[in-house]
Amino acid sequence: MLNFSLPEAPSLAVLRSLAAQRILVLDGAMGTMIQALGMTEEDFTANGHIHGPGCRHQYHPDHPQKGNNDLLVLTQPQAVEDIQFQFAMAGADILETNTFSSTTIAQADYGLESAVYDLNVAGAQVARRAADRATREDGKPRFVAGAVGPTNRTASISPDVNDPGYRAVTFDDLRTAYGQQIDGLIAGGSDLILIETIFDTLNAKAAIFAAFESFAKAGRRLPLMISGTITDASGRTLSGQTPTAFWHSVAHARPFSVGLNCALGAAAMRPHMAEIASVATSLTCAYPNAGLPNAFGAYDETPDQTAAQVADFAREGIVNLVGGCCGTTPDHIRAIADAVASFPPRKVLA
Ligand SMILES: [Zn+2]
Repeated sequence: MLNFSLPEAPSLAVLRSLAAQRILVLDGAMGTMIQALGMTEEDFTANGHIHGPGCRHQYHPDHPQKGNNDLLVLTQPQAVEDIQFQFAMAGADILETNTFSSTTIAQADYGLESAVYDLNVAGAQVARRAADRATREDGKPRFVAGAVGPTNRTASISPDVNDPGYRAVTFDDLRTAYGQQIDGLIAGGSDLILIETIFDTLNAKAAIFAAFESFAKAGRRLPLMISGTITDASGRTLSGQTPTAFWHSVAHARPFSVGLNCALGAAAMRPHMAEIASVATSLTCAYPNAGLPNAFGAYDETPDQTAAQVADFAREGIVNLVGGCCGTTPDHIRAIADAVASFPPRKVLA
């Protein structure tokens, strides 16, 4: 029983009125931008000086941290802020926090479970600074979406072929982990909560439940953006749902937006987005990868190529928000923002 009676922050009235006027733009990929900086282990740990906001807590993980991109909000906050600022100036209205893997479940790979609250507080604060810096520059409002990833475990499928009843994680494990994350994202100043790259709807349901528990603690409600991913050509999520079934599984949360991200690039995403747009009574949101990864795991689509496909979504009237996932740079976001600017937003179903 989700409680919808809590108030929303007044700033969200601005977001809702903007969404009624035009297609809103999300930012692009943090991972590829970080990779391009070529940071070393010493950069990732700031030479071993890992501490939370205000230096309240010091962390001394015994695992290597190179590749733990979320850690950079503590150790290289200016680098993360500068990337988010570039996306904002390229035309993004909504900036995602760099917290995709900031749960105890995902941070266990790096021995940094104890840092998750600080990672989320700092992740939201860094994105907030980038957003406010862009607003000072051009006067346009910007919003921070606290990013909640799927974790690397699934609650509805067994990873052991010999034991189909086994689960590597339970609903309650996920609910607790997501709750810690969302508490931090709210405390750090997020405007929205974005539950993204959902491959297992049960994980997403745990995140939704946790979000409402966090809202109750905070005494206010943040709009939820819910974004699934399609994992194969049959057009289903990993837990086997069609786009229509996915919508019906999350509709009880009355999301601000529902849609798809990542997946197999924009062209492959189009029919599934059209299906969601035909059933969802919320706004719809699409932020595809820059095509399919090549043999080296990199993305070859140029900004114009990605933008032309996203513009097709807009022309067809199936999107209210667009942006980019893996492989999309500030140039991709600029091209996408320009390409959709002349199209009206999708009409929301009654
Ligand atoms: Zn992606």
